[in-house]
Amino acid sequence: ARTPVTVLGLGAMGHALAAAVTGAAHPTTVWNRTPGRAGALVDAGATEARDVRAAVTAAPLVVACLLDHASVHEVLDPVADALAGRTLVNVTTTTPEQSRELAAWAAGHGVTYLDGGIMATPPMIGQPGSSVLYSGSAEAFEAHRAVLDIWGESTYLGDDAGVAALYDLALLAGMYTVFAGFHHGAAMVATAGISATEFADRAVPFLSAMIGHVRTDAAAIDAGDYGGPEQQSLEFSDLGDMVQASVDAGVATDVVGAVQALIRRQIDAGHGTDGFARIYESVRAGGTR
Ligand code: NDP
Repeated sequence: ARTPVTVLGLGAMGHALAAAVTGAAHPTTVWNRTPGRAGALVDAGATEARDVRAAVTAAPLVVACLLDHASVHEVLDPVADALAGRTLVNVTTTTPEQSRELAAWAAGHGVTYLDGGIMATPPMIGQPGSSVLYSGSAEAFEAHRAVLDIWGESTYLGDDAGVAALYDLALLAGMYTVFAGFHHGAAMVATAGISATEFADRAVPFLSAMIGHVRTDAAAIDAGDYGGPEQQSLEFSDLGDMVQASVDAGVATDVVGAVQALIRRQIDAGHGTDGFARIYESVRAGGTR
C-alpha cells in the first residue's frame, strides 16, 4: 500500500508537489490557508482537509510547503500535539539556522524532521532535471524515499537539518551571480544597440563552455595552491578594462566592481601573482583579507 501523504500549502510549489503524489496514486490530503485552491487536486483524487489538524492527522508523512519560516510556525505550532509520532518534511525555503530551529522544535514535540531544499521550479517537479536536497532524519529519508523520489532526484546530505538549506542557498548564490553578470553584460552591449536577446544567443554557449572551469578553481581551493599554470595572475588582470568600459558606457559597476574589490584585496595582501581562484580567500575570510 502506498504511504498516505499530507501537503500543507497549495501555492505554486505545494500544488505541484501534491499533484505529483496524487498522480503517483498515494492517498493525498491537502490543506491551504485560503480555501478554494484544491479544486484540480480533488478532481485528481486528493482530499481537501477542513483544517490543519484534520490534514496533519490524515497521514504519517506531512509535507509543509509554505511561504517562509514564520508561516511554518504559524501553521504548525497549534497542532504540534497532532504531529507527534509523524514525519514532517519541510520544503519551505528557510535559512540554515531556521531549519535547525525547526528541527529542534520538532524533536521537542516527538516529530521526526527532514528538511528539504527544492532545486526546481513548479513545472519541473517530477520531470528530468528536478532535484531536491534533504538533511535531518536519515530514517525519515529512507522510510519515505519512494515519495521523495516522485518529485525529482533526492539527495541526502546528513543529519544536520541546516545543511540542505545551506547547500540550496549556496547553489542559488552561484546562479544569481552568474545571472547578474549576464545582466551587466547585456547593459554594456545595449549601449552599442545590441539587444539582450542577441547577447543571450552568444552568452549562453560561452557561459556553458566556461562553467566547467570552476572545477579548476575548486582543485586550487582544495589544494590551497592558487599558483597553478592554468591560472592567469590577478595583477595581469584586475578587471580594470572591464570596469573602465562599464564606466565609459555609463552602466553601473556594482557587479563587476564587487569582483574587482575581491581581486584587489588579494593583490594588496601580496598575492598578485596567484590566479583568480585566490579571491575565495577573501570571501572565506568574510572580507577581512
Ligand atoms: P506561493 O507564493 O505560490 O505560495 C505560498 C503559500 O504559502 C500559499 O499556499 C500561501 O497560502 C501560504 N502561506 C503564506 N503565508 C502563510 C501563513 N502565514 N500561513 C499559512 N499559509 C501561508 O509560493 P510557492 O508555492 O512558489 O513557494 C512555496 C515555498 O517553496 C517557498 O518557501 C519557496 O521559496 C519554495 N520554493 C519555491 C520555488 C518556486 O520556483 N516556486 C522553488 C524552490 C522552492 P495562501 O494561498 O493562503 O496565501
